[in-house]
Amino acid sequence: MNAIDQIFQLLEARGHGSYFGEPVSQLEHALQCAHFATEEHAGSELVVAALLHDVGHLLHEQGENVADDGVDTAHEDLGQAWLSRYFGENVTRPIALHVAAKRYLCATDKSYSAQLSPSSLQSLQLQGGPMSAAEIADFEADKIAQDAVRLRRWDDLAKVEGKNVPPLSHYRGVLESVVKAPLRAATGEAL
Ligand code: FE
Repeated sequence: MNAIDQIFQLLEARGHGSYFGEPVSQLEHALQCAHFATEEHAGSELVVAALLHDVGHLLHEQGENVADDGVDTAHEDLGQAWLSRYFGENVTRPIALHVAAKRYLCATDKSYSAQLSPSSLQSLQLQGGPMSAAEIADFEADKIAQDAVRLRRWDDLAKVEGKNVPPLSHYRGVLESVVKAPLRAATGEAL
């Protein structure tokens, strides 16, 4: 099985659970997020990051109500670790930073926290709450920070019940274009 098939298998096998009390599944959330990235002319790596930003939620067994129990699954770190075998930093680091981007936006954009869903506000507290001034300065110095903020805004929008967006298969080409060269299907190399 090649790299893209492995990723698709994970999303298809485990992506049908609800997205934290929102009216979409994990897979619908991923597809909407990638669609918003595409609509805003994000580059291929950022579109892939949008599609896969919550893959970490599919890699743990803790259930969708885990935040009710005061547990932060650190899904952004799980996702980065798993995806780093397939993709470089331009894909994995916006994913790793998408929770930091939420903490950043909560500290710097008054209108941002007002539109967060109840479950997103709940997890914010577990994730450390809004950034401090020192954390803001560190975050802004990171060259990936702006990509992470863009990803975060698509993430927050990608909760629309019944939205008609392209299916997972639509993204095979873009995934193959950014997967690490030795893993490309064209080489015939299986994992
Ligand atoms: Fe998300």
